[in-house]
Amino acid sequence: MLTTPLIAALAARGPVDVVTTPAGAPLLANHPAVRAVIVYDKRRADAGVGGLWRLARRLRAARYDAAYMAQGSLRSAALARFAGARAIVGFETSGGKWLYTRRVAYAKDRHHAERLLSLAEPAGSSGAGTSPLRNLGIAVQPRLYPGEAERTAVDALLRDVPRDGAPYVALAPGSIWGTKRWPHYAALAKRLAPLFRVIVVGGPDDAALAAEIASAAGAERIVDATGKLTLLASAHLLARCAALVTNDSAPQHLASAVGTPTLTIFGPTVPAFGFGPLALRHRTEGLEGLPCRPCDAHGPHECPLGHWRCMRGLDVAHIEDAVHALLHS
Ligand code: SF4
Repeated sequence: MLTTPLIAALAARGPVDVVTTPAGAPLLANHPAVRAVIVYDKRRADAGVGGLWRLARRLRAARYDAAYMAQGSLRSAALARFAGARAIVGFETSGGKWLYTRRVAYAKDRHHAERLLSLAEPAGSSGAGTSPLRNLGIAVQPRLYPGEAERTAVDALLRDVPRDGAPYVALAPGSIWGTKRWPHYAALAKRLAPLFRVIVVGGPDDAALAAEIASAAGAERIVDATGKLTLLASAHLLARCAALVTNDSAPQHLASAVGTPTLTIFGPTVPAFGFGPLALRHRTEGLEGLPCRPCDAHGPHECPLGHWRCMRGLDVAHIEDAVHALLHS
C-alpha cells in the first residue's frame, strides 16, 4: 500500500510492472498506474533457487530499464540482477544493497511512503528534508482502486443493516503484535454505539475481538466484517465509513488509501517510525512521557516490563474524545 505513491510517480515516466507476493497482488487490481502485476510466490510455486531463476528468465524478456527495490532483501535484489534490469535502485540500508547500481539514503525522518517515493528522486538528491518530488506536487498519499467486485461484496455485507441514518464508524482492534492491540475497543464501541453503526474490520483471526465488541455494545449495533472481505473490499468498506479507529497496523493504510479520516492508537511504537496514517484528516494518540516508549520497531508480543502501561494507560474516555475531535476536524 505504501508503495503506491512510488508506483504513481514512476508511471509518469513509463509503464510500471509490479512484482509482489500472492497476498499483495489483489490489492493492486484496477490500479491505473500498474501495467502488470507479477506474482512471486517464493514459499510455494516459485520456491527455491529454481523458482527465482524461472521468474528472472520471464522478467528478462521484458528488458526492464530499471528495478526499484521497495523490498530490500538480497533475494529481491538477486531477482532484479538475474532479470537483467539495467539500473537497480534501492536503499543504502537494505540487505541487497551490494547488487544495486544506485543506493538511496533511508531518511529516518520521513514517512515510509515518502521514503519509498524517494527511490524515484533524481540521483544526487540528499535524502534529507522534504522530498523534491513532494515539492513538485507528487502526492505521498497511497491510493487503491476497489472495483465492482469489491462494491458487490460490501453491498452484500451491509444488505441487512437497518438504514437509520447512523454514520458508520470502523474499528480495527487487531494486530499480529500483541502489545499493539489497544485493550479497550469493546468499551469504546459501547460508548459509540448509540450514535454510530460500529463496523469491526480485520482478518479471520480478529473474529474473537469482534465478538467481544458485539457482546459489550449490543450485537444489533455492530457489523462484524472480520474475515469476510478481501483487503481491497475492506478498503471500499472503509471508504463508506465516517472514520476508522485502529492500532498501528495495516487498516490505517487501507483508510489512508481511500481517504477515510483515521485515528491511530500507538502503544509500543510511535508515529515517528514513519508508518502513521496519511489520510488528510487523521489523529494519532499515544501515552506521552512514558520512559520505556517506544520499546520496539514492531511492538513485542508481550510487554518486556510486564505492565503494558503504554496501552492500558490510554483510557477509553480520552480515545472517545479523540474520535469526536477527528469527526469534527
Ligand atoms: S515496555 Fe513500555 S512501550 Fe514497551 S510494551 Fe511495555 S509499556 Fe509498552
